[in-house]
Amino acid sequence: MTNQELQQRKLAAFARGQGNVYPVYVTKAKNAEVWDVEGNRYIDLGTGIAVCNTGHSHPQVVKAAQQQLEQFSHSCVMINPYEVAVELAEKLTRLAPGPSVKKAMFVTTGAEAVENCVKIARAATGRRGVIAFTGGFHGRTNMTMGLTGKVAPYKHLFGPFPADIYHAPFPVAAHGVSEEDALKGLQHIFKAAIAPSDVAAIIIEPVQGEGGFYPAPASFMQALRKLCDDTGIVLIADEIQTGFARTGKLFCCEHSDVEPDLITMAKGIAGGLPLAAVVGKAELMDAPLPGGLGGTYGGSPVACAAALAVLEVIAQEDLCQRATHIGALFNQRLTALQKEYPESILEVRQTGAMVAIELVHEGDPEQPDTGLTQRIIKLAPEHGLILLACGYYGNVIRFLPALTIEESVLNEALDQFEVLFCAA
Ligand code: PLP
Repeated sequence: MTNQELQQRKLAAFARGQGNVYPVYVTKAKNAEVWDVEGNRYIDLGTGIAVCNTGHSHPQVVKAAQQQLEQFSHSCVMINPYEVAVELAEKLTRLAPGPSVKKAMFVTTGAEAVENCVKIARAATGRRGVIAFTGGFHGRTNMTMGLTGKVAPYKHLFGPFPADIYHAPFPVAAHGVSEEDALKGLQHIFKAAIAPSDVAAIIIEPVQGEGGFYPAPASFMQALRKLCDDTGIVLIADEIQTGFARTGKLFCCEHSDVEPDLITMAKGIAGGLPLAAVVGKAELMDAPLPGGLGGTYGGSPVACAAALAVLEVIAQEDLCQRATHIGALFNQRLTALQKEYPESILEVRQTGAMVAIELVHEGDPEQPDTGLTQRIIKLAPEHGLILLACGYYGNVIRFLPALTIEESVLNEALDQFEVLFCAA
C-alpha cells in the first residue's frame, strides 16, 4: 500500500470532519522518528499533538503497558478498582501544584477532563457561570466547544452551546492586549453579564496551545488567583497541552507559583495511551455524589501503568531540564531566522519545549500569513519533518519535539527547518 492509496481509502471511509493534515501513513515510530508505509523517515516535531513527551514507544512505557495488559486489561475503576490507579492518583496528587490535600479522578480524553472540572466546580459552589478566554481551546464536546474561543472549524454548525459561558480577553502583548485590558474585560463581564457570586469557575490555559502558544504572564496568573480567592471562584488550569514536563516544569503553573484549585491533565500523561485526569483541592473534588464522575474506561489499568512509567521516565531522564535545553536551542535558531526574515516572522514564542513562530505579511500583526504557514506545513514531509500549525488564523507554526529527542536528531530537525523555511 502507498500513502496515496491509503489516503484515498481514508477519504472514502472517514467523515471529513475528522480532518487530515498529511497523507503520511505511519507504520513505525521510535522516540522522535516516524516511518511511513513507503519507508520514508520523518522527524516528528508534533508528537501527535503534544502527546509523546517521552518519545514514541519508550521501552519503559511499553514494558509497563504490556505487563499490565497480560495481567488484566480492564475492570472499571468504579466497579472493581486496582492498585495501579490508586498509585497513580497518589503520585499525581503529590506532584501537582495546588493545596496540600488533593484528590484525583480519571477519564479518557482532555475534553472530558475539562467537562468534569466544570461539573466539580458547579457542584462545589452551587454557582452556574464559567469564564474562559478568547483564543482558548478546551475540546470538542458540547461544554468544551462552548468554552473554546475559536469558531471555525471547532464550533461551526454545532450550536446551540451550553448557557452561562462567558469569554474574557486573553492578554497577548504582540496583539496589543495588555494584562490590564484582560483584567478590565473580566470586570466588564462581572458588571454587564454575571456577578462574581454567580460564577463557579474561571478556566485558563497557562500557555494557550491551539490558540497560538501565547503564555499567560505570571503576574496575570497571580491576579487571577487573587480574584478567585476574593470571590470564591474556582480557578481551573487547563494543563492538557502544557503538562508533563513540556514547559520545563512538570506543570506549567509552577512557573508563576500559582496553585490552581483544579488542574486538567491528558496528552503527555500516558505516552500515547488514552488517559486524562482532574487533580485538585480535596473538598472541591468530593462535592459530586459517588457515581457522578468518571466513565467506563476512565483510569484504564493499562493507561495507568503507562502513566506511572511516564512519571518515572520524566524523573530518571530529567525531562524538565531537557525541555528547557531543547527550547533554548529552538529559540536561538528561530531568533536567528527571524533576524533574516523580520517581515515574515512576527515573533518567536517559547516556554520550555513549547515553541512557536508567528507568520505575518510585512511584519504587521494585523496581517496573518496563513498561506505561507500552509506552504511550510505541506512541504514539511518532503524535508523529512512532521510539523503542526496553530493560532486563531492558523498562521503559527508550533514545535513540540519529544523531550527525549537525541541531540543529533534535534540538530538535524533544526537544519532541515531552516532549509524548508527558505524553500517556502
Ligand atoms: N484542552 C487543551 C488545552 C487542549 O490542548 C486540548 C487538545 O488539544 C483539549 C483540551 C482537548 O483534549 P482532547 O482532544 O484529548 O479531548
